[in-house]
Amino acid sequence: MSESRIRYEEPAPAIARIVLGRPETRNAQDTRLLYELNDAFDRAARDDNVKVIILAADGPDFSSGHDLREDLDGAMDGYTPVGTWCGFTCDGAQAQMAREKEIYLGFSERWRNIPKPTIAEVQGKVIAGGLMLVWPCDIIVAADDALFVDNTVAMGIAGAEFFNHPWEVGVRKAKEMLFTSGAVEAAAALRLGMVNHVVPCGELASFTLDLARCIAEQPLFALRLAKEAVNAAQDAQGRVNAMQTSFALHQLCHTHNQLVGGAMMDLSFLGRQKQIAARW
Ligand code: ZN
Repeated sequence: MSESRIRYEEPAPAIARIVLGRPETRNAQDTRLLYELNDAFDRAARDDNVKVIILAADGPDFSSGHDLREDLDGAMDGYTPVGTWCGFTCDGAQAQMAREKEIYLGFSERWRNIPKPTIAEVQGKVIAGGLMLVWPCDIIVAADDALFVDNTVAMGIAGAEFFNHPWEVGVRKAKEMLFTSGAVEAAAALRLGMVNHVVPCGELASFTLDLARCIAEQPLFALRLAKEAVNAAQDAQGRVNAMQTSFALHQLCHTHNQLVGGAMMDLSFLGRQKQIAARW
């Protein structure tokens, strides 16, 4: 547990910058990375001197999604859960549901509701689980090479655990994104309202920091309440209920795949994976 997968920076007064620091795996999310990220978000949230939180990533790609190579046996050992569901070693479908409720849906919802402005600074590929780090942020600044993919349907799963697709890209694009495992490129993401700005790669960090500085000039309490007001408006549209339904369907997919093929995903994906990724 010695190496750190997350870096915490303070690039300017009142601004915290949290960096995914596992570029050798394209910032694949294993349990440790997610708990370290959650700790970093908590640190920034609890520091009254921090007004704005940037989430960035080392390397050419923001995140390749869940780390599919992680051995899930005992993966939750040694971490203090932030939720109360637990049951990570229970039989049947319970353990996998409990784990995903804690570290995927639970974390993403928790980060989405941090009462301070958050900005995702995104370059390169954001694949499936990667979306669950980007979408909970309030503002997204994308490099012009950014692309966003949810290829979980190809894995026999009905969308990533944090199912915010309809609110991010609209209902029709959400369906196309899921049905085809195709990429939403930066320019399209901007047109759809999924990202706030697209900037040249070389200007990504400086542009994001300037935006964070501009926000940090505002009074924190008003920022908190403005965020809460917009989030409440989105939740009044039924987002939370829809999210719970999608999560239940996602779990049904895992259980179905377990019954049919003995794995959480449709194993035929492994043979089709390269062909799908070649289109991005
Ligand atoms: Zn899952």
